[in-house]
Amino acid sequence: DYVPNGYHPAYIGEVLTNDQNNISYTLIRKLGWGHFSTVWLARAKKIEIKNSEVQSNDLKYVAVKIVRSAKHYTETSIDEIKLLKKVKNFNTNNNNNIGQHNVIKLLDDFTINGPNGNHIVMIFEILGENLLSLIKKFKHNGIPTILVKQIAKQILFALDFLHRNCGIIHTDLKPENILLKINNTNVLKLIDLISNKKNLLKILRFYQDFLSDISISRKKINNNNNNNNNSPNKILHSDNFLSSLSLMTISNNIVNNSNFPTPPSSGSNHDTDLPDQKINNNNQLNDRLYNDSNLINAKIADLGNACWIDKHFTNDIQTRQYRAPEIIMGGSWGCSADVWSFACLIFELLTGDYLFEPIEGHSYSRDDDHLAQIVELLSCPNPHEDHDLVNLVNGCSKSSSFFNDNYHLQNLSSLRFWDLKRVLKEKYKFSELESRQISDFLLPMLNLNPKKRADAGGMINHPWLEDTFGMENVFNQERKLYNSGLDMPGWCSEVFHYTLY
Ligand code: ADP
Ligand code: MG
Repeated sequence: DYVPNGYHPAYIGEVLTNDQNNISYTLIRKLGWGHFSTVWLARAKKIEIKNSEVQSNDLKYVAVKIVRSAKHYTETSIDEIKLLKKVKNFNTNNNNNIGQHNVIKLLDDFTINGPNGNHIVMIFEILGENLLSLIKKFKHNGIPTILVKQIAKQILFALDFLHRNCGIIHTDLKPENILLKINNTNVLKLIDLISNKKNLLKILRFYQDFLSDISISRKKINNNNNNNNNSPNKILHSDNFLSSLSLMTISNNIVNNSNFPTPPSSGSNHDTDLPDQKINNNNQLNDRLYNDSNLINAKIADLGNACWIDKHFTNDIQTRQYRAPEIIMGGSWGCSADVWSFACLIFELLTGDYLFEPIEGHSYSRDDDHLAQIVELLSCPNPHEDHDLVNLVNGCSKSSSFFNDNYHLQNLSSLRFWDLKRVLKEKYKFSELESRQISDFLLPMLNLNPKKRADAGGMINHPWLEDTFGMENVFNQERKLYNSGLDMPGWCSEVFHYTLY
C-alpha cells in the first residue's frame, strides 16, 4: 500500500510543514492506522524569524493523520475536514455546547507532496486509548459502572451537539471510535525519548520508575481487597489509573515492537489488569473508583464516515453490531441511527459482550439473524397494536425479504424471547435494581421505530446518570427525558432543501 496513490512513506524524524502558518510537525512514532491513513505522534513547532534568525518554538504534542493519496481518499477527507471544521467553529459563546469538548478537535490541515502523490494531512489533539482496549483491559467482564456513566453522559452531550448544533450524523459509533484523553504527558515524553536511542539510559530509568508506580497501585488494590477496608484510601495515584493503563499499553507496545530491551525490573508484573474478580456487581470496587478516579474524558473520534443531516453520502452505514434495524431493512434514516448504536455501545461497556452479534446460518442470512436477535430482545411488531411501526416496516425497501404477511420473521422460526432486564440480571448478575435502571435507560434508545426513539439530549436527564461522578446534577434543560428527536431536522430521514449552513 506504500505505492503511488497509497500511503505516504512517513518515517520517524520526518518534518511536515504547513507553509501557510509556518508550523512544522516532527514525526515521533506511529500511533495507529486505518483504511484511510496512518496516524503519528508528532511534536509541533512554530517557526518564526526574529532579528533575521530562524527560531523554532515547541508548541505541543499532536496527532498527525496522513491520508492515502488516491482521489477517493482525498475527496473523502475533504468532506471529513468540512465536518470537523463545523464542529470546531461552532459558536463557543453559546453555553449549550458542552458536547463540543467531547468530539475530537481538528487543529490544522494542509497538503503535502510525497513520492506517492499529494496527501491531505490533518492535525488533531492527541488522545489515548480507545474504548475497545479498555473493554479488553477489564477482560470482557464489563467496565465499572462509575466509569461507564461518565463515558455515557459525555458521549450523549457529544451526540446532542453533533445532531442538533452541527447537523452531523456520525454513522459509525463503536468502541474503537471513542478515544480517552491522556492526561499524563509523561506518556508522550516517554515515547519521544524512545524515538532517540541515545537516550537509552534515561528511558530505562523512566520506565522503571513508572513500573514501580504501577506495582504500588496494584499492591494497594490487592491489600484493600483482602482487608475489606472501607476507608476511602488513596488507592490509585492522583494521575489516575486510566492514564496508567494508557501508558502501560503504549510502553508494552514499544517493548514488544522494537529492539528495545525489556527493563531489568525486579520480577514486577507487567500486567496492569485489575485483580481477577467479577466487577459488575461489585459495589465496593465502584465505591473505591468513585473516591479515587479523576474525571475521565471521552471523545468521539473518526468522522471519516460521518455525514450531514441534509447530505447522506451512502446508505451503507454503521459497523454490523451497532447497525440500527432501519438500516438493515433498507429504510430511511437519520440522527436516530446514532442513538441505536450508542445504546449497543453502553451495553457492551457494562457487560463486555456485544448486545447483538449476528451470524449467518444454513437457511438464513446475517441480516435475518440480526433482526431475529433484535426481535428476541424487543419483541415482534404487533400489526394490531402498532400501526406506525407496521407502516415503517412496509416502507423499508428490503422488509419483504425478512418479514411475512403477519410481521413474523420468515427465515427463522424458533425464537427465544429474553428481555433486556432479565438478560442483565440472569446472565450478567446485575442486581434487580440495577437491571431495572439500566434497561430503563437503554430501551428508549432501542425503539424499533426511529420516530419514537429517545434523543441523545433528553437521555442526559435520565436518573441512571444523575450521580455520574464529576457531572452530578448536570442536566440538559433544552431536551426532555424520553422524548423523541422528531422535532429535530434529519431525525429519521434525510432533509431536503435545508438551509442551516
Ligand atoms: P482512518 O480514517 O484511517 O480509520 P482514524 O481516524 O480512525 O483513521 O485513525 C486510525 C487510528 O489512529 C485510530 O484507530 C487510533 O488508534 C489512532 N488515532 C487516530 N486519531 C488519534 C488521536 N487524535 N490521538 C491518538 N491516536 C489516534
Ligand atoms: Mg478508523
